[in-house]
Order: sequence, then C-alpha cells, then structure tokens
Amino acid sequence: MEKEKIEQIRAEFPILTEQIYKKQLIYFDNGATTQKPRCVVEKINSAYYHLNANIHRGVHYLSQKATEAHEAARQSVAEFLKADKREEIIFTRGTTEAINLVAFSFGEAFAKPGAEVIVSVMEHHSNIVPWQMLCQRKGMTLRVIPMNEKGELQMDKFAELLNEKTCIVSVSHVSNVLGTVNPVKEIIKLAHDQNIPVLVDGAQAVPHIPVDVVELDADFYVFSGHKIYGPTGIGVLYGKEKWLNAIPPYQGGGEMIATVTFEKTTYNELPFKFEAGTPDYIGSTALAEALRYVQEIGLNEIAAYEHELTEYATQRLLEIENMRIIGTASNKSSVVSFLVGNIHPYDIGMLLDKMGIAVRTGHHCAQPLIDSLHIPGTVRASFAFYNTKEEIDTFIEALKKVVGMLS
Ligand code: PMP
Repeated sequence: MEKEKIEQIRAEFPILTEQIYKKQLIYFDNGATTQKPRCVVEKINSAYYHLNANIHRGVHYLSQKATEAHEAARQSVAEFLKADKREEIIFTRGTTEAINLVAFSFGEAFAKPGAEVIVSVMEHHSNIVPWQMLCQRKGMTLRVIPMNEKGELQMDKFAELLNEKTCIVSVSHVSNVLGTVNPVKEIIKLAHDQNIPVLVDGAQAVPHIPVDVVELDADFYVFSGHKIYGPTGIGVLYGKEKWLNAIPPYQGGGEMIATVTFEKTTYNELPFKFEAGTPDYIGSTALAEALRYVQEIGLNEIAAYEHELTEYATQRLLEIENMRIIGTASNKSSVVSFLVGNIHPYDIGMLLDKMGIAVRTGHHCAQPLIDSLHIPGTVRASFAFYNTKEEIDTFIEALKKVVGMLS
C-alpha cells in the first residue's frame, strides 16, 4: 500500500494520534484487539440514536428498521465468509462463545464415551477448554496434533491421529502466538475422507486473509468482531446448515422458540434457534460496517501490506544480538513472537510500554504451546494495516535500548 493511502487510513483511527506517557502511541497489540475506525464508532452512535428498538418482535417502525439492520448484517457476514446461506450465520458474543456453542451442542448430539476430539498444540485456551469440558462430560479423550521446530503442524502425525473414534477436529486457521497459517483446507480434506467434521478458529485469520468457507469446506468457522475492527461483544459462528439442523440449541429463552407450553417447547428455525434472548443488534450492525470497511480497502491489499510489515519487522529484529524468533513457519500472518537472551518477556513489555509501545507479553492464552516450547512466554508484536515501517523502526530502536538496559 502507498504511503498516502496508509496516512488516509490512519486518519480514520483517532486513537493512533494519542500520546502515552508523553510518547506517541505505537499500537502493536492487534492480535489481542484492533482499534476502531470512525465509521464503526459512528455506526454505533447512529444506531443508538436512530435505530434502537428490540428486534424481531415489534410491529412498530423502529423495531422493523432495527430488525432489518440486524438481518442485513447477517447477510453481510454471509457474503464476507462466502457462505451459501445467511441462515448459516449465527451471532455470538465472540470466538469463545461460538466454540463453546459447538462443543456443547455438537457434543450433545454426537459425542459418545470413548470417542476422541482432535485439537492442535498451538490452540488458544478457548479452543482447548470447551473440548476438555466436553471430554469430561462424556468420557472422551482429547488428542493433540504436534508441530515441528518451525511451528508448523505435522500433517503426517495428524493423519495418524484420525480414526473411527474421532468425533470432531478443531484447529486454528492462524496461530495467535506463532503467526503460523495452518493448512486448514488440507486438514479438512483429510478429516472429511473419514466423514469427520472440522471447526476452524478463524479469530486471527479473518482480519488478515480472505476466507471462503465453501472453498475450504469447513463445517464450522468462527471469529470475533473486535479483532476485525468491529465492536467487542459480537462474534460469528458459521455452520453448515446440515450440522446446525442436526444439533440442539445451546441456550434456552426468547427468540429461539417456536411454541412454548409447560409441557413442551418447540424450537425456532435457523438461525434463531441458536440466538436466545435479545441479540446484540447494535453490535451486529457495527460489525457489518467494519466488514464493509475492510472490504473497501481490500483483503488482498491488506494481506500483502501486512506481510511486508511482518517480514520487515522480522528482519530488523534479527539485528539484535541473542534474538530468538518464536515461530518461523514458511506461511505466516501478521504476528511476530520473540525472546532476547534470558531476559523475561514481561520486563521487555513493561519498558517498551513506558516508551509508548504496546506489545503483549506472556503465554497469550496458549499455555500448553508455551510449555511445549519450554519458554516463560514471548513478547508478541502483532500488526494491522494502519501500522507503518516507521513505527517498526521506532520500536526496534526502543527495543535495542531496552535490551541494553536489561542485559
Ligand atoms: N482463538 C484465537 C486464535 C485467538 O487469538 C483468540 C483471542 N486472542 C480467541 C480464540 C478468543 O477470542 P475472543 O476472546 O474474542 O472470544
């Protein structure tokens, strides 16, 4: 992307001009959450000012307008993920809730004692714990795909793990620690050869690479709005219609029912069967605006520019003595995790913060991965399309100072 375009983009994110400890903010914690462009914040404001009424139940004008906006947002998400049908899009609170929904509802319908769930070694806790809870409930076993020293999944080992006991596979599209882009299409193909469904955790993928759920043939695909420039509290579960029809509701309440008597309740059709209670219709509307915004910039352009930033940051980091990049997969997205000598990542993060630079340190909610690497955690810089090479230069100079102070 050209400099001028990036400057125009940055002007849409007021927070990027803020000062922290009298230093210009450099925000490299995009993997945790992204900043919001004006259009998204303005959408939230205007929705509350002009479109606020509870949806689906009202005969009155405002309720109908709010319902239209929520359902139009569902259509936008379907188009964004290239899903066949808008009924296959369920709004959730985020990735975590979407995975819990599948682990519970799929588990109720298909899990059996003695069966197995396969995840990978590089999963976020939200793609481990719900499956562990399912395994505990149903007397099942969690199996783990290992990785090589570069942080790439070992596909031969994965093929060996698949067997007639496997009930579902759940893997991240992009690792939030290593940045590895996993070969999810190949994973899905191998699983489908044995009629095993696959959930893909797309939390770190959708902001950075174009996703087509039909082309991937994913059975379930999940992501969070706040990681793709949308608001917090809204996320998405895509599920193939055949699966969503075959599994029971996750929560009971209003909206998800067709009829209720004290003797028996019948459930609503898709997608409402999985949306109990008042949904976040303001959040869905603002998420649709965020998706419109990234599509206007173009996900291919975003992917190319962020790749350039990631490569540049990696090269510059390697100028520092005793630098250890954690995760060197050949296909990586916008994340660089690192350690310097024996310096604790927390100390680096603290001092960088005082210089105005926001990075994340620790286990990044992927403790089993960090343990498997026998490290205390990492420092993680994660980039968005509003970041620049100049910011990376400032970060490298600051990091050199920090390393000098701590060595
Ligand atoms: N999966 C991955 C790969 C993530 O990076 C994250 C967020 N760090 C999550 C799941 C959880 O997302 P959320 O907290 O928005 O539900």
